[in-house]
Amino acid sequence: MVTLGGHIKETGSTTKTKTGGWRTFKPVIHMDKCVDCGCCWIFCPDMSILRKDGEYSVDLEYCKGCGICSRECPTGAIEMVLEEK
Ligand code: SF4
Ligand code: SF4
Repeated sequence: MVTLGGHIKETGSTTKTKTGGWRTFKPVIHMDKCVDCGCCWIFCPDMSILRKDGEYSVDLEYCKGCGICSRECPTGAIEMVLEEK
């Protein structure tokens, strides 16, 4: 448990908190470049990468736009694109 701004937060509570409208960049997965290695799924700190039947997608309700998935993808399949406001 940690304190942030005087509030007590549970460890891992970001996965319970929707991101809202502050994200600047969002990941877009180009499945034609994906080799199904699972790196994005493993490294996402918010468990926002979803995998179903070998297809990957991003849960944008929780994704914070940190770009780790894009950095870790060995084939450059994940593009970080500017959010439209
Ligand atoms: S940008 Fe960050 S939070 Fe969003 S899916 Fe990628 S690793 Fe997860
Ligand atoms: S890291 Fe890249 S290649 Fe690997 S599963 Fe994710 S999108 Fe596909």
